[in-house]
Amino acid sequence: MIPDHVLVPDGDGGYYKYIYQDAPIPPEHPVWIDMRDVMPHNANSDNPNWTGGSDWAIVESKSAITIHHVGVEGASAINVAKWTTRLYSSGGKGLPRLQYHFWIDRNGTIRYCTDLKYGFWHDHGGYPNSHISVVFAGRCDVTRPPQVQMDAAVELVQYLKDEYSLSVVRGHNEVSSGLTICPGWKKWKDDFLNLLNSPLSFAIVDLE
Ligand SMILES: [Zn+2]
Repeated sequence: MIPDHVLVPDGDGGYYKYIYQDAPIPPEHPVWIDMRDVMPHNANSDNPNWTGGSDWAIVESKSAITIHHVGVEGASAINVAKWTTRLYSSGGKGLPRLQYHFWIDRNGTIRYCTDLKYGFWHDHGGYPNSHISVVFAGRCDVTRPPQVQMDAAVELVQYLKDEYSLSVVRGHNEVSSGLTICPGWKKWKDDFLNLLNSPLSFAIVDLE
């Protein structure tokens, strides 16, 4: 018989009572590595352009998906997060967290880096920001994303569109008034959007 609770010592001579509940059914999503708990966090943000305090705002609803590229080749999510959260006065960006929710490696590995509850300032320089940020690793203005990276991004963005009822998918350059070329997708944007709108791709399509 499965007990309905368990007693856990509280270290003070007493106990916590943990009551088992029916486990929520996890939503189906693409295979990703959940890195939220291991990503660097800087509670002492000192970027002079940043006015949000020690953390990104918590944004309850999402309005769009923004596509980025990292803009350097060979950098890992952890290393970019370390630089992003290093103090501005020490040569970092001086921001609270990595400013992308999802990161897609060149080999198609999807990494969930920053919890979706956080709304970034980065996409359009406004705060807070209700976009979901998805970043392609690498310099995608120089090297077109390999097909495996493109496919992973399409699968992820299709899932996010469906899960959060979103229809708007934009490049960073389209929401930041020409301040950036990110995601550098001039030569592959059409291919990406065509794949995204293909009703025949990927597992989240119901094949019944
Ligand atoms: Zn960007």
